[in-house]
Amino acid sequence: MADTILQNGFLDHPVFALVSEVAEESGVRAFVIGGYVRDCFLGRDSKDIDIVVEGSGIALAEAVARRTHAHVSVFRNFGTAMLKYEGTEVEFVGARRESYNRNSRKPIVEDGSLEDDQRRRDFTINAMAFSLQKADFGALVDPFGGIRDLAAGIIRTPLDPDITYSDDPLRMLRAIRFAARLSTPERSFVIVPESLEAMARMKDRMSILSKERIAEELNKMLLTERPSMAFRLLDQTGLLEYILPQLRRLKGVETVEGKGHKDNFSHTLQVVDQVALQEREEIAAGKRAEVNLWLRWAALLHDIGKPGSKRFDPAVGWTFHGHEVIGARMVPGIFQELKMPLNEKMKYVQKLVGLHHRPVALVDEEVTDSAVRRLLFDAGDDIDDLMLLCNADITSKNPAKVVRLRQNFERVREKLVEVEAKDAIRNFKNPITGEYVMATFGIPPCNTIGQIKERVKDAILDGEIGNNFEEADALMRSYAASLGLKVVGQ
Ligand code: ATP
Ligand code: MG
Repeated sequence: MADTILQNGFLDHPVFALVSEVAEESGVRAFVIGGYVRDCFLGRDSKDIDIVVEGSGIALAEAVARRTHAHVSVFRNFGTAMLKYEGTEVEFVGARRESYNRNSRKPIVEDGSLEDDQRRRDFTINAMAFSLQKADFGALVDPFGGIRDLAAGIIRTPLDPDITYSDDPLRMLRAIRFAARLSTPERSFVIVPESLEAMARMKDRMSILSKERIAEELNKMLLTERPSMAFRLLDQTGLLEYILPQLRRLKGVETVEGKGHKDNFSHTLQVVDQVALQEREEIAAGKRAEVNLWLRWAALLHDIGKPGSKRFDPAVGWTFHGHEVIGARMVPGIFQELKMPLNEKMKYVQKLVGLHHRPVALVDEEVTDSAVRRLLFDAGDDIDDLMLLCNADITSKNPAKVVRLRQNFERVREKLVEVEAKDAIRNFKNPITGEYVMATFGIPPCNTIGQIKERVKDAILDGEIGNNFEEADALMRSYAASLGLKVVGQ
């Protein structure tokens, strides 16, 4: 069964020698399996290590922990145990044989051999194991040709794909996620055609998955370097229609009187990829701390309101007026359907979708201080993310046009920096509070207070007065006088 004894340092981490020793003393066979083995061959860093044991995973983990005085977390329901050893999380599980019932993702589980365990894994590249037995330490155990598929960049199920996907439809999303994540500019990973066909046949099985699990996979797809690949595969297999039909409705180009519009699906995917690229560039340049999942959601949904706003105007061609407003209104519903948080993350996505046209619109107009101040006021601390999204939103088949639009966009960015330095509008707080208005004019809570505050805010944003208390107070007094209000005690 063993192929080669490894000489290449894959098992240098001290935990492997330790597990090997303890397993021998306990009289069980143990193997490293799954993602760690795959990532060794791909030269990618692996965060965690999975150990499979022919016997009890929990018992072996506890025996290892006794030797290292490490803390073990035991998950008895799952038959797994986890311990941290020299900074690495190591998970132990007993080898199992699984059989499925059609109505659930939960299998009937029995103890099994290593090979039974490999058979229940999702893909050949995820089913490889390294032996931890003393006799053949480091030997690759690969009954399904995972190493061949890894070299060829192929994602294939160990069993008939209809069975693998029907048993656990989450695997369809995992296939797509791995294809997107493992692909590099040098070598792309493709899902074998039989598998893609099986997905198209099995797409209705998605109904047994919880929305939370689906959303978790979508998040992982969005966080890959080139998310478009995942969304194209979701579309191609018909899974997108089930998961995010609103996105699929962006597909297609309609032509009237010889005039077509952009395919908004392709455009959206290009924008998501550009956001991912620009985030990486900003992180490399030290301008950004980390990738932001919610910015990627904003990119994915930025044009979601286009189908609902599409009109053909014989004079100008296709228009999508107000699509950002319609899109922003759609965001909560989409989050709710996918059981995603309806908290400030959703509000952030909604805000970016709603504002995504503003900076670009400024490019076409003359960039006035007042328009920039209003943008800063509305975007607040999310202005940098909004600007990144808008820059990524510039796409065209004509490269010269992209260069020109980007240059114009840079002017907006410069203006933003200029206005920001002058006026500190980003975290604008009205210098005039409601309490102050009430106390000054001796009036109870009423609409007039809002009206006065609004007048002051507009004056500051329009540059009529400076962003400070003295000028705001003076304006408040003169405006209130024009409304017939009198200062208390005068
Ligand atoms: P990652 O780098 O994303 O952690 P991974 O391959 O380690 O990749 P995990 O989700 O951590 O993926 O799962 C560990 C291993 O468990 C996989 O390599 C695979 O062998 C197996 N596995 C996980 N989920 C499934 C599933 N739904 N069906 C079958 N096997 C699975
Ligand atoms: Mg893992």
